[in-house]
Parts: sequence; C-alpha cells; structure tokens
Amino acid sequence: MPHDDFPPASVWLVGAGPGDPELLTRKAARLIAAAEVIFYDALVGAGVLDLASPAAERVSVGKRSGRHSKDQATIDALIVAAARDGKRVVRLKGGDPAIFGRTVEEAAACAAAGVPVRICPGITAASAAAAAAGTSLTSRGVARRLTFVTAHARAGEPLDLDWQALAAPDATLAIYMGRAAAATVAQRLIAAGRGADTPVMVVVNASLPGERIIRGRLSSLAFLVDTISDHDPTLLLVGDAVRSPAPVACAPVHVMAQS
Ligand code: SAH
Repeated sequence: MPHDDFPPASVWLVGAGPGDPELLTRKAARLIAAAEVIFYDALVGAGVLDLASPAAERVSVGKRSGRHSKDQATIDALIVAAARDGKRVVRLKGGDPAIFGRTVEEAAACAAAGVPVRICPGITAASAAAAAAGTSLTSRGVARRLTFVTAHARAGEPLDLDWQALAAPDATLAIYMGRAAAATVAQRLIAAGRGADTPVMVVVNASLPGERIIRGRLSSLAFLVDTISDHDPTLLLVGDAVRSPAPVACAPVHVMAQS
C-alpha cells in the first residue's frame, strides 16, 4: 500500500536507534529511503545512512559532546529551508528523538514556518544497553522506577540535578552524556544517601561493533569510565536492577541429556 505521509516540503524527525541498522523501526527505514535531504547527527550509525537513496543529499550536523559543529538555531534554519525548497526532509537523530534530542526546538521551528513535521520514535540507548547486557532496567521488588537523566552541564556550570530524588534506592538511573561527569555523579549520589556499593553498569557503543560493558560499584564509577574515549557514546546505569549476574543475563543454556 503506498504511503501518503511524506509529501514534498515536509519534515520527519526520525529516531535512528542506538546504531545497529537492524534496530531501526520499519517506518524509520521507509522514511530514510524516501528522503531527498537527510540531516544527521554524529551518533547515527553508518549502516543506517546506507539505507538512504543514492540521490539523497546527506548533511552532517554532527553534534557530539563538546564539539557542536552547528548550533541549534543553524540546524533549525537548515531543516526549514530544505522543506521550503520543496524537499522531503528527514532529520535523523540517535536513539529516540523524544529523549535528549532537541526535538521540541526543531518541531517548533518547523511549525512556526508552516512546515508540516512529524516524529518517528526509535530505540533509546538505555533499552539497547540493557539488551546488550542481558538484563532489565526494572525488576519486581528491586527497581520500581526508571529515571532518564542527563549529566551534561554547560561549560563552566555545575551539574544542577535533584540528587536527593536520584538517590532513592528503588530507582534505576539511566544517565545519558554522563561520562565526563561520572566522578561528580558518584560523589553526589553517595553524599545524598545512595549506597556506595550500588551496582553500576557502563555501556559503551551499545549495539555497535565496539560495544563494551563494564560493571562495578557506584564508588568506583570514575575509575570504570577512565579508559573510555570522548568519541564513544557511553551510557551509565545505576541501581540494584543492573546487579551482576543479572537474573536474566545471557547465561549459558544447559541441555540435560535424556537417558
Ligand atoms: N536520543 C538519544 C540520546 C541523545 S543524547 C537516545 O534516545 O538514545 C546522547 C547520549 O546518548 C550519549 O552521550 C550517550 O550517553 C547515549 N547514547 C546514545 N547512543 C548510545 C550507544 N549506542 N551506546 C551508549 N550510549 C549511547
């Protein structure tokens, strides 16, 4: 059945997932293939862009921690200009556009310019990280809530988070953009009452070829992230639900021989 949801002069904000192209939704894959112009972030996996038409114009707006190659206003203006030029525009974002994705700014810029804009969800880094580690982010009787939080602060400004709320023992924390602030996060959480021996899991390049999972305790978080390069997307997970070995971890399957 032909789709009529992507007319010329319109924009889709599309979740590219954590990197592995197989973790795209079918809708995302279809929209990427139909796009005439694609604006993409640095965190979008190379395999995902391979789904674009060879004729599509690909524009890196390469946001990566500390190196914003284009500022948000410029990105907004580029998207609007391409749509006004009559193009089918995909703005491709890592993970899910609704999670730390500046989606509101971009959607508002389109709406203000009278450009139709829609959002296609994606798999967020926390989901991919949990799957990679063979674990769950919630667990009956252990973690009743899951908090998505960013530990990215503007240069020179302190991290302004509700440490008391984050220190609640029944919460799993999925900390985005947290590598650089890992030492501060651990210290502030412990000072607010979170146990120093709370399990932590650091997942680097979830779903990508360089995937790494590092496990430890909250007190050693700064040490755990020490060897991770600035360029590798890194998610910090904190809480009893990510304890090792996890109840549903990828344990070897033992087949009992029938006698
Ligand atoms: N919208 C994205 C998050 C953008 S913020 C999402 O839903 O996933 C960028 C941060 O996401 C990175 O600094 C890192 O903390 C996390 N991240 C994104 N992709 C990741 C991956 N493949 N592995 C680990 N962390 C990832």
